[in-house]
Amino acid sequence: MPNGKAMVGQLGGQPILILPEGTLRTVGRDAQRNNIAAARAVADAVRTTLGPKGMDKMLVDSIGDIVITNDGVTILEEMEIEHPSAKMMVEVAKTQNEEVGDGTTTSVIIAGELLKKAEELLEQEIHPTVITKGFRIAKDEALKILDEISKPVSLEDTETLNKIAITAMSGKSMEKASPKLADLVVQAVKMVAKKEDGKIVVDTDNIKREKRHGGSSEDTELIKGIVIDKEVVHPGMPKTVRNAKIALIDAALEVKETETNAEIRITSPEQMQAFIEQEQKMLKDMVEKIVASGANVVLCQKGIDDIAQHYLAKKGILACRRVKKSDMEALAKATGARIVTTLDDLTPEDLGFAKLVEEKKIAGEAMTFIRECKDPKAVTILVRGSTEHVVDEVDRSVEDAVGAVASAVEIGKIIYGAGAPEEEVSRRLRKFAEKFSGREQLAILSFADALEVVPRSLAENAGLDPIDILVELRAAHEQGKKYHGIDIFNGKVVDANEMGVIEPLKVKTQAIKSAAEAAEMILRIDDVISASKLERGPPSPPAAEEAEA
Ligand code: ADP
Ligand code: MG
Repeated sequence: MPNGKAMVGQLGGQPILILPEGTLRTVGRDAQRNNIAAARAVADAVRTTLGPKGMDKMLVDSIGDIVITNDGVTILEEMEIEHPSAKMMVEVAKTQNEEVGDGTTTSVIIAGELLKKAEELLEQEIHPTVITKGFRIAKDEALKILDEISKPVSLEDTETLNKIAITAMSGKSMEKASPKLADLVVQAVKMVAKKEDGKIVVDTDNIKREKRHGGSSEDTELIKGIVIDKEVVHPGMPKTVRNAKIALIDAALEVKETETNAEIRITSPEQMQAFIEQEQKMLKDMVEKIVASGANVVLCQKGIDDIAQHYLAKKGILACRRVKKSDMEALAKATGARIVTTLDDLTPEDLGFAKLVEEKKIAGEAMTFIRECKDPKAVTILVRGSTEHVVDEVDRSVEDAVGAVASAVEIGKIIYGAGAPEEEVSRRLRKFAEKFSGREQLAILSFADALEVVPRSLAENAGLDPIDILVELRAAHEQGKKYHGIDIFNGKVVDANEMGVIEPLKVKTQAIKSAAEAAEMILRIDDVISASKLERGPPSPPAAEEAEA
């Protein structure tokens, strides 16, 4: 508990204050207890969402916007957590999300359980340094064991990659749509995967996701190219162009306003006419340059003047304006075009290619599709779902699946899930702990026990008896069935490979690594000094303030 005292030193019997008044300080066991409780509260908040049978959370923000999700990192980000060590748990989830894109709930609940076990050790007067040392030894061993029980996977192994995508998505609410979505995700990852120095690299930023509600998640589509949220700019332009030669222009197709404050005096109607004709000619010249390059599609990052639009339309060119910068970059990767910043630079070699460019209405709103690019290095998944909330959750599950499949092919290793890896690591760690003595051994054993929070939560969330299932699971692993996990739909312990529950190795290694590091960091704190908060009470009514002033 905070004791509210400022930091006090002694000098010749005279207390000296070294911190400002109002500073809150918590020390020793109080600080530890407090931090552990806050961090565990975070883990408890997401525990019930783990696994295909996990529940969803509905989060309502201060202006009434609703998010319904099962995604660990989304829940924690939406919760606007304030407590400093609770925030460290949110960081665990964020790191996991950035590094792998899946396994956020797993990482947080392992961190929470490690802290729970640490708390028990602290109660037995075991010093935090001993605990953290034991945890670190256990973590390193756990990573080794995970690597030992992993299996190789290649980019060509579509069947396994599909299972990885399905496993990643089944953590989310919609189970039905997964086979088709999984297939799209695997195709997308294969398209953007590159070989660099014999290694496979997947930059998931090259898999763009565009969301549209209306329709169902089954309507989700993979575009070998890019979808932009823009309509064709002029009604006279074609809405479909086959064998498109695409110019990407980062310059306005407009006549610039005179930049200096020069005044143009027009004294006669003839002069006015000449002025207008001059402007029209400039715009026409611009369009001529585009025509000369051979382009039949223009995607412009800036504006396109009405008159330029008219000329483009007359030449049968399809054009969109104010295309986002990020989309322009993705378009360059997908079509092979070079973005030009002045029209004088535009040559036929700068053009990109797509078999089809078309404007289509999706759920009432026009979008432009740049499709069937040859060997695109950037692709788009157009995510669909009946309502906004559904689309958002489908989008999150696609994101997880992309992350999981990408991480599997990059590392080239997979692991069978459903609680199997956590149980196997836990069992082997218990054996490994025998090499150590005393308190260190206790810490390693606690680490081993903590990992079982994953199979236990999977069982609990599926409404199964966690004690019975864990006994059965432990027995299976004792008999050498190292890939046995929980069939949560039938309440049995079976081989996770046979169930098709497959995950990238990195989901597990990263989860254990970040969880252990966060737990260690929280355990090492024995002193929390917080500056006094700026006044944040309810604002006093303005009238009173005026009266005071
Ligand atoms: P996270 O945010 O950690 O990815 P999820 O809710 O996605 O959380 O749940 C992942 C866990 O669910 C993993 O341990 C995974 O092995 C397990 N899992 C996924 N599909 C199945 C399944 N069909 N049967 C049993 N466990 C599964
Ligand atoms: Mg998941």
